[in-house]
Amino acid sequence: MTKVSFLDLALVNHELEAELERAALRVLRSGQYLRGAEVESFEREWADYCGATDAVGVGNGLEALQLVLEAMDIGRGDEVLVSAHTSIATWLAISHAGARPVPVEPDPHTLLIDPACIEAGIGSRTSAIVPVHLYGMPADMDRIMKIADRHRLAVVDDASQAHGARLGERMMGTLARATAFSLYPTKNLGAAGDAGIVVSGDAQLLRRVRMLANYGERERHCSELRGYNSRLDELQAALLRVKLTRLDDWNQRRRARAAQYAEALSGIEAITAPGATPDAYAVWHQFVIQTEHRDALRRELARRGVPTLVHYPIPPHRSPAYADEYPEPQPITERLAATVLSLPMSAQLSETTCHHICETLVSSVAAAGMA
Ligand SMILES: *Cc1c(COP(=O)(O)O)cnc(C)c1O
Repeated sequence: MTKVSFLDLALVNHELEAELERAALRVLRSGQYLRGAEVESFEREWADYCGATDAVGVGNGLEALQLVLEAMDIGRGDEVLVSAHTSIATWLAISHAGARPVPVEPDPHTLLIDPACIEAGIGSRTSAIVPVHLYGMPADMDRIMKIADRHRLAVVDDASQAHGARLGERMMGTLARATAFSLYPTKNLGAAGDAGIVVSGDAQLLRRVRMLANYGERERHCSELRGYNSRLDELQAALLRVKLTRLDDWNQRRRARAAQYAEALSGIEAITAPGATPDAYAVWHQFVIQTEHRDALRRELARRGVPTLVHYPIPPHRSPAYADEYPEPQPITERLAATVLSLPMSAQLSETTCHHICETLVSSVAAAGMA
């Protein structure tokens, strides 16, 4: 039986071992571990990659989003519209900023925030929209920005799963007033530990994010804001600089695997393949199928040596951290929690292994009584 891993992070680093080791040693020998040249260079290189004015490295993706909201003065008394179908981290960032997340249901086809459901959630306290470009698929920003402009709402993108995605020619990172990225190890661009980054075209906003991330200081030892300690470190920045040179190639390899999956799935009626958004260059952080027989299929695949994951089994509003305050059902989101299944996906997934997974999928469908 072919042994398949969902995502082998050591294999990612193996491809670049010599370069990563050189970068790590450079930092270890430099004597500078925070607030140095590596972070400054990575911020410049990431901003240039995205076509944004500038970038600020922070401690992780959750704080990237939280600090942008706080830098915009969004907090206590504010409501923030957010994808209901997302990582809990998106909601936690809004809560930690002091605001209240207000769920917006996804489009059942794209699984992304449904622009048609946004206006129903807007009230007198609404101050921002946080669309999530989930699974590497860009959300419908043209419609979202029109609604935001009409109601004078800020838009902050959670692009933690969409490094390098595009809408037409427009890069992720330039679609909203500010964009937060996680650089967690499993993301399309991932560090060897926690990391995150904020990009924007608004230099003043980024200056505030930078202050908030470092004790609220502009000048050393003079805190103008009650800030945090949320800094990207030199070691992670040096490693990320190496990996950034491969991001486009890695994303193209993911796209090739996604096309292979889509082709194989077209013949299986009981499985819904992910829907494409017109004009979108998706970077396939996950390849997520839907089926009524999710749990049975998952068991069959596991029995045959193909691991899968569920993103996400409990929607934020149903998690114990939020459930008390969110009695309203979100039917589409709740249905997705029961039907979505993430197949193995990474730049290191070979064509041969992907082919094996597709064949296993066909035999598992039959065994699970789905065909
Ligand atoms: C990973 C992720 C985050 C959080 O990032 P961390 O770096 O783990 O804090 C936020 N939103 C989404 C959509 C994510 O996938």
